[in-house]
Amino acid sequence: MKIAVYPGSFDPVTLGHLNIIERTVKIVDKLIVAVAIDSKKTTLFSAQERTDMIKDATKNIEKVEVQSFSGLLTDFVRKNKADIIIRGMRAISDFEHESQLALMNKRLAPEIETIFMVTCAKYSYLNSTIVKEIASLNGNISQLVPEIVEIKLKKIFSNKKV
Ligand code: ADP
Repeated sequence: MKIAVYPGSFDPVTLGHLNIIERTVKIVDKLIVAVAIDSKKTTLFSAQERTDMIKDATKNIEKVEVQSFSGLLTDFVRKNKADIIIRGMRAISDFEHESQLALMNKRLAPEIETIFMVTCAKYSYLNSTIVKEIASLNGNISQLVPEIVEIKLKKIFSNKKV
């Protein structure tokens, strides 16, 4: 059984993330989307909210499980009997940071492989930060995020304006 882990902050999940999830389930038996609780980034959504939004957005995709995790990623991967880490690669600018992470994880856990999925072109400029920025300025994000995320972001930013 091939089990892969797709870790990230997912603050919030975008259609770019979902595209990686949909393509990865075609090549593994189970995909665990792992929401980082100890993200170094300051997050807009709590780990619980980030997890719940991914659960909602992936409810019709078979083989996907969503969990939050804290501590070392490699420990989480081992605990779940997985041996693949999936990461998305958008542009060459992702490469340096991502290859550093992959090499460090390899050092910590040599049996685990990191596999990079190259984003599809239409999502290559998409990230969670940009989505939050557009939403905060009242822009249209319907083509960029799942419906549940659009609803949540609209609620947050319309409340802020009151
Ligand atoms: P992190 O803080 O760990 O980078 P993110 O939620 O920003 O978490 O991203 C999680 C993973 O998803 C990363 O590997 C990132 O490169 C990838 N990713 C983010 N946005 C996209 C996108 N639009 N297309 C493909 N992969 C993406």
